[in-house]
Amino acid sequence: MAFARLRRAILLAAATLAMTDGAAFDLQGHRGARGLAPENTLPGFARALAIGVTTLELDCGVTRDGVVVVSHDRRLNPDITRRPDGMWLDGPGPLIHSLDYAELARYDVGRIRPGSEYAKRFPGQAAVDGARIPRLADVFALVERAGNRTVRFNVETKIDPTRPEETLGPEAFARALVRAVRAGGMARRTTIQSFDWRTLRAVQAEAPEIATVYLSTADTIGPGDRASPWTAGLRPRDHGSVPAMVKAAGGAIWSPGHAELTPALVAEAHRLGLAVIPWTANAPADIERLLDLGVDGIISDYPDRLRAALAARGRALPTPTPVP
Ligand code: MG
Repeated sequence: MAFARLRRAILLAAATLAMTDGAAFDLQGHRGARGLAPENTLPGFARALAIGVTTLELDCGVTRDGVVVVSHDRRLNPDITRRPDGMWLDGPGPLIHSLDYAELARYDVGRIRPGSEYAKRFPGQAAVDGARIPRLADVFALVERAGNRTVRFNVETKIDPTRPEETLGPEAFARALVRAVRAGGMARRTTIQSFDWRTLRAVQAEAPEIATVYLSTADTIGPGDRASPWTAGLRPRDHGSVPAMVKAAGGAIWSPGHAELTPALVAEAHRLGLAVIPWTANAPADIERLLDLGVDGIISDYPDRLRAALAARGRALPTPTPVP
């Protein structure tokens, strides 16, 4: 038992060191490069690889037949999904967890619905008609095809503790994801992130070699005296700050909403040995503010903008690896 704890501590320290090592700023492409290409698709990840990122940020779910797939939404999202007959979904679609992978693969997620609010948020996203919801294994294979042996994967478990009927439970979800990551031989290049900290506790028990990333926002942390359903029983009142909660939970990385980050919080997280990688900064002014704060990485829908900001500061940049 003591040995297991020691082994886990060493593995985590190594993972954290790899992530906070001076030159290695963690440039993360959010859902691939959502500002430029369809989110969470192979063309999107290929776009991020061609730009050059440290990490592909992506979301996952598990199909009825147990396949880990890459999707932000527990239900097929009518803003990005067309049915096999080419028609747009006319409302929230079926749960991913209610479909077998073969059924899921018939939907097209290569374009944002024209005229939607979502389309207005990402006017520069180039459509790739025919793009499908990929399996996590397909993303690993894409990276192999690009010849990229260093890019990392920051995989989010899309599970909502207030909607337990819509996905696998936290332990089963974590086990399925760990199995898929290990099957791809990518455990050393993967972090697992979640707003639902129960899944991260399950990952720690299942896979000590995989560092866990604690996503937070004021809404999921809650007011303080009561444990929010998202924080696996931890109460802000008992710890005094969100980074202290993350540390107590065994996290290696804290990923807060970027607007919630202050100099004092960054300093506290670093004192605790946590890397700080906020989501999701797209405006150049926000990116500059975060770089001034000394964060260890940034998640952006526009990895090209993030690269430009880092280049202007003379920072080392990850090598672009276009997929042939
Ligand atoms: Mg995500």
